Amino acid sequence: MPYKYYGGVHPDYMKAPANKTPVTAIAPPKQVVLPMMQHIGAPNQPLVKVGDEVKVGQLIGSNPAPVSAPIHATVSGKVIAVEPRRHMLGDMVMSVVIENDGLDTPCEDMRPLTPEQLRDPEAILARIREAGVVGMGGAMFPTAFKIAGGRGKVDTLIINGAECEPYLCGDHRTMLEHPEELLKGIELVRIAQGLDKCYYGIEKNKQDAIDLLNSLNPADYGVEIIPEEVKYPQGAEKMQVKVNTNREVRPGEIPSGVGCNVVSTYTCYTIYRACYEGVPSIERVVTVAGSGIKEPKNLLCRFGTPLTHIFEEAGGFVKQPRRICMGGPLMGICVADIASGLVKGAAGLLVFTEEEDREVDNPVCIRCGNCIAHCPMKLEPIYLYMYINKGDYEKMEQYHVMDCFECGSCSYGCPGRLPLTHTFKMGKAMLTAKKAEDKARAIAEKANNGAGKGAVSAGKEGNV
Ligand code: SF4
Ligand code: SF4
Repeated sequence: MPYKYYGGVHPDYMKAPANKTPVTAIAPPKQVVLPMMQHIGAPNQPLVKVGDEVKVGQLIGSNPAPVSAPIHATVSGKVIAVEPRRHMLGDMVMSVVIENDGLDTPCEDMRPLTPEQLRDPEAILARIREAGVVGMGGAMFPTAFKIAGGRGKVDTLIINGAECEPYLCGDHRTMLEHPEELLKGIELVRIAQGLDKCYYGIEKNKQDAIDLLNSLNPADYGVEIIPEEVKYPQGAEKMQVKVNTNREVRPGEIPSGVGCNVVSTYTCYTIYRACYEGVPSIERVVTVAGSGIKEPKNLLCRFGTPLTHIFEEAGGFVKQPRRICMGGPLMGICVADIASGLVKGAAGLLVFTEEEDREVDNPVCIRCGNCIAHCPMKLEPIYLYMYINKGDYEKMEQYHVMDCFECGSCSYGCPGRLPLTHTFKMGKAMLTAKKAEDKARAIAEKANNGAGKGAVSAGKEGNV
């Protein structure tokens, strides 16, 4: 019986348009642009140079740092540039550009694991790292590091199948179209984590997927399916921990601090392919939807595919988009450049026109308290908003601005249309910068004092 958490909202889920047809694999583009940074951690160094011929799945970027995830070629062809290019999210990032030769010649370097290796936690973990698997729900944290870091501390593994953001339905389609592969992928994560059993939390609006997975005897894979209430942000890691174990992740901590690791559905499917098929992380299902898209659908896309190519495959835009989101409409991040290449964490590409724009010129708080009732972190958004706008750092800390994980529930339910979540993002950045500044100032003062004392004692010595 799943536990409950405080707050949350019930938006219109809008999943039907894209969810009604099976996933379509799109033709790889003429060129892919692969940023060397598609994860949280140390950026990869390119391993290829202009003029090199590469094959599909060939390693083209890596970094030996533990928190990193290598990058592989997603088409075969010739490297035509190794240079900084605009990342989907805005920064200029060192990228490898490959001209597709259309042959899709596979690289044979990565072979499927043997039956013995598929039972060996170390072999699975090494493959997860080698295949460049990151959190595909959007976090892009290197999965091998997450699993390894949880060993000895984690007693509960939770697979996240909530997919609670409106529009997004790529995980749902994967459950329906690859249920057995998915269960095998989950089993691999469970073995790598060193546990006998894990929970797979799925929102009840995917009852067909719950029934299908249950019909395949998930217990044989060490998996228990947990049907979960349909509520946003059910898929946030902290909520998954609460719902499945009744444990609370403390402010500033991560799930492993309370003995849990949370891994997303598509990450498990990617791990299945890496271990059983020898295919590194080179593609994913992306939900392309929103009011600005002509033909909402789920598309299987190679990483590095220019977003313009993906939008064309979904019929193009209805009209000039006002905003394009990577991820869901509530927690997604605005896309900076639609010519940039797709990255691993992009579960959705949502296109919105001005009709959905909720911004107003003079937002006014009517003191309804909705934001407080909706915040799953039990924060008081209205006060936070006020203190951030005043630049009151002491109060920002006192009201726990850093505990806000930017879920957007408060903004969603605000009748005054105050830009709450946006303001909290800004407040967190302001407080982080202030702390860094204070720390730098304290270090400089300490150094100056030390230098002053040194000068005095040097002066005394000189006087002797
Ligand atoms: S939900 Fe909006 S209007 Fe209501 S109290 Fe919060 S900030 Fe004010
Ligand atoms: S965005 Fe932050 S303050 Fe608003 S509901 Fe979510 S966690 Fe609470």
